[in-house]
Amino acid sequence: MLFKGIAASHGIAIGPAFLLKVEELRHARRTLIDSSESEEEILRFRDAIISVKHDLENIADSMGDVVEGRQILEFLLLLLQDPTIKKEVENKIRCDKVNAEYAVSSTLLDVMDKFNIMKDPYIRERVADVKDVGRRIIEKLTGTEKDALNNLKQPVVLVARDLDPSETAGLKPGQVLAFVTDMGGKTSHTTILARALGIPAVVGLQKITVEIHPQDLIIVDGIHGCVIVNPTEKELSYYAEIREQFQEAESLLQQANPGPALTEDGVRYELAANIELPHEVEMVKSLAADGIGLFRTEFLRLIQEKGENEEDHFDIYNKMALDMLPKPVIIRTYDMGGDKFRTGLNSAREANPFLGYRAVRIGLDRPEEFSIQLRAILRASIHGNIKLMFPMVTHVEQLRSLLDLIKLVKNDLRVKAIPFDENMQVGIMVETPATVIALDLMLPYVDFVSIGTNDLTQYTLAVDRGNPKVAYLYDSFHPAVLRQIDTVVRLCHAQQKWVGVCGSMAANPLAVPLLIGFGVDELSVAPSLIPDVKKMIAVVTTHAAREMAEKSLSIETGLRVRALVHSYVIGKYPEILLDENDWKTGG
Ligand code: PEP
Ligand code: MG
Repeated sequence: MLFKGIAASHGIAIGPAFLLKVEELRHARRTLIDSSESEEEILRFRDAIISVKHDLENIADSMGDVVEGRQILEFLLLLLQDPTIKKEVENKIRCDKVNAEYAVSSTLLDVMDKFNIMKDPYIRERVADVKDVGRRIIEKLTGTEKDALNNLKQPVVLVARDLDPSETAGLKPGQVLAFVTDMGGKTSHTTILARALGIPAVVGLQKITVEIHPQDLIIVDGIHGCVIVNPTEKELSYYAEIREQFQEAESLLQQANPGPALTEDGVRYELAANIELPHEVEMVKSLAADGIGLFRTEFLRLIQEKGENEEDHFDIYNKMALDMLPKPVIIRTYDMGGDKFRTGLNSAREANPFLGYRAVRIGLDRPEEFSIQLRAILRASIHGNIKLMFPMVTHVEQLRSLLDLIKLVKNDLRVKAIPFDENMQVGIMVETPATVIALDLMLPYVDFVSIGTNDLTQYTLAVDRGNPKVAYLYDSFHPAVLRQIDTVVRLCHAQQKWVGVCGSMAANPLAVPLLIGFGVDELSVAPSLIPDVKKMIAVVTTHAAREMAEKSLSIETGLRVRALVHSYVIGKYPEILLDENDWKTGG
């Protein structure tokens, strides 16, 4: 059976399915044979409760003094140990002779029904918590939870409704051959991490978790965005061959052109790397990237075992800057929120997380915590070529406050005679239409700009970048996005400011000629995509790029813009790897 989704991370994988999460509370009923089986089920249920309690307590501990987060967890713990619920589940197992999973699901579904009809909105909102607790218990009972992923006996294809970035970052490429999810889009953070880890992935499959059963054999085609469940012999041998060809092509590309990126007419082009985790620096160096154009520091949360600590930040930034010398490292301050790290600093549930408590909004709300990161960046700046970049800046007064905060931190460092680079460059990301439109007012305050096309596309077109239902509308080639990129470059260059692009669009083969044509000074892409982009740059002349970019501004649809670039490129680069989604959506 074939399913179509969004090609999130290139590559082909074949392997048995491993279902990560139980998302639905409803669970199949199994009738027990005798009372000894009932007693076994009750013991399994009690063990599951102890194990979930342990997990929740650990999460609560890791939250430190984040009050909202701890409150949610305390409520979950109360629910988990509620004697009435416990009694009801055990009664069902004993009297109705049903399995523990079914007893838990039917009991908690009843509780959810009761909560749902309550007048008190607070109680109605707790329905999600009841579901969360039930899901956790059932995950323990069925063995589908994360721990099982760490004890795999064979490499698997991971199947999940959605993956948190933290879960994705924990995946081991040798163990997880690929992953497929119901949710997600081409530029969601889980997708970005999959590329960083080099794990093939297809996302946005909508209902794949319902179609796949544990141990089903799965083919994941991360190039075309397809998943085949229980393939025929013919499909299997076809894909085994494609997998081999893909691996060969990849290794040829990696070996080719270790030098700088040059256009066909010999113009040197700046090509940098986006990284999420410090160990990626090795790969960035081996690919001769021109620097790190975006270090998404929020992912450091995944490796900070003891929480926020200035020395940990400093060590990481310092080592990275020294390793990359003399090339620049653009360190972006925390961009929590949106689809990233909903726990911790921004633990409260929000109706519109992408429009809510995110990025520098959190930093300015908690200046003391934020200053820890700023201090560490400034301290490291003396040892390397570090630039600091703020994400999601939308208001001039916000920018002024951020710069004031830097001033305060600098003063403090001066008083303590701690050295830092007095001239460390400070830039902002352009990720919202507001920032584009008001950019001329912001530019005098900053040294450089980097365009985050992932968010710029999301906010311009009002399309959630992680929602597969609207993924067909998510298009970085939309005239509204292209025109904004053109505007940003013009505004920046009018004030002699450097402008890069670090959103996923910079790695889209059909976007590369346009971005060069608009005159952006740098492209920054996932390290694994550097050879592809370098090759793409090599088949474009600056003159043709300019012509295409200019022409694109008067074309009505993204599809036609892609066709324009494609017709230019295909003759020069016939083996160009385009997935079907490059035609539909252009992240
Ligand atoms: C972007 O929005 O394009 C970007 C690079 O930032 P992130 O993907 O981390 O939101
Ligand atoms: Mg962004």
